[in-house]
Amino acid sequence: MRLTQYFLPVLKEAPREAEIASHQLMLRAGMIKQQSAGIYSWLPLGLKVLRKVEQIVREEQNRAGAVEVLMPTIQSADLWRESGRYDDYGKEMLRIQDRHERDMLFGPTNEEMITDIFRTYVKSYKDLPLNLYHIQWKFRDEVRPRFGVMRGREFLMKDAYSFDLNADAARAAYYRMFVSYLRTFDRLGVKAIPMRADTGPIGGDLSHEFLILADTGESEVFCHSDFSKKTVPDAGVDYSDDALIAGIVDDWTSGYARTDEMHDEALWAEVPEDEQLNARGIEVGHIFNFGSKYSEPMGAKVTGPDGKDVPVEMGSYGIGPSRVVAALVEAGHDENGIIWPDSVAPFDVGLINLRSGDEVTDAACDDMYAQLSAAGLDVLYDDTDGRAGGKFALADLIGLPWQLIVGPRGLKTGEVELKARASGERHTVSIDAAINQLTAWHVDSRKRFGG
Ligand code: ATP
Ligand code: MG
Repeated sequence: MRLTQYFLPVLKEAPREAEIASHQLMLRAGMIKQQSAGIYSWLPLGLKVLRKVEQIVREEQNRAGAVEVLMPTIQSADLWRESGRYDDYGKEMLRIQDRHERDMLFGPTNEEMITDIFRTYVKSYKDLPLNLYHIQWKFRDEVRPRFGVMRGREFLMKDAYSFDLNADAARAAYYRMFVSYLRTFDRLGVKAIPMRADTGPIGGDLSHEFLILADTGESEVFCHSDFSKKTVPDAGVDYSDDALIAGIVDDWTSGYARTDEMHDEALWAEVPEDEQLNARGIEVGHIFNFGSKYSEPMGAKVTGPDGKDVPVEMGSYGIGPSRVVAALVEAGHDENGIIWPDSVAPFDVGLINLRSGDEVTDAACDDMYAQLSAAGLDVLYDDTDGRAGGKFALADLIGLPWQLIVGPRGLKTGEVELKARASGERHTVSIDAAINQLTAWHVDSRKRFGG
């Protein structure tokens, strides 16, 4: 993409209302625009990252056996009356009436609707296990929308719903999603720690929140320092092997890890002091087993092998891709701007032409742009006639993994500069060496993050 043909409305300064780094940087880098409180447009650069996050989430859901659907944003209040949640949900739910004065709502979540889909089509245990998910916008009229897309009112959620014949099978389904979340966050280039979460009135131990550590996180977290050393299963992990999957979950849930909501001082005191990690974190995912809470009142039953009908056992599994984008910025930035993980960076390389309009420099840049694009790299080519300082600042702000800096002076000896955004290291190399290094990096990073 040539910058002169792109739409990248960067801001010199962050608007005053942006309190935390991710919100400031996403506004400055022209990723999002606020339309009203907690409601945002995604501009091209932001949308690219959001779509990449979404795609990784999707691939890991598919790998774990979940099947994608797409449910509408607008739902009928009648469905929610069946579960009893229409009255319980409170002011966070945006209630709407259509022209026939029928009560509708903008979905804050989809348990009722997915249960309705299930009960319409599935009648026998033979069709289980089943896990259906979608990636769709939600609306929750948050009391205090803040921090940009971190806590929005309209936000994107991947929500999956599992259906099983009995509690054991439902537990296995829950474990598969747990492992799929480990892989998802690993591919997103970030450490997310699963923490024991409140199961509310249902009880049991089957709810976990996944948190990314960051100083500005809204939750206080208490966890064993070991979590940073644990390994994540690779793409070949066999999701059909219940014992294997349970073993991975056991390992990841053996150490103490809780947010302030579930914190237990007595248990915490058993963790040696030099292994205690007390920090702040951002909730990016939440998984939950709730048995027959919805299937029972809504009549979602399956016939078991013994010929008897039983309410289906369910679980739900959420990740907020729009919040994840902000969390990645919160976890990856410096004083000059964003530092994207390779797997979700909006472009791989920023190609910086230091003297646009100069024939030799333009020709060299055009050639490198063509070569890199042909090798499959996504290049943002700064072909504007701006000054070098401004181009460097922009490149640092938007945080692409690499900057390829090309100017007439270096070209005299066939040389360009290659800068790695994360480390800040700059090397002067030949044009061929730069192309080779970037191409090799691209192949390698696909191997590492491509799953
Ligand atoms: P929180 O405790 O942060 O309000 P929640 O527990 O209400 O979130 P869930 O119902 O568990 O959220 O939703 C699943 C996921 O959706 C969350 O883990 C988060 O990633 C995302 N999410 C929830 N609320 C918002 C929001 N207001 N803005 C952006 N993402 C959100
Ligand atoms: Mg939650």
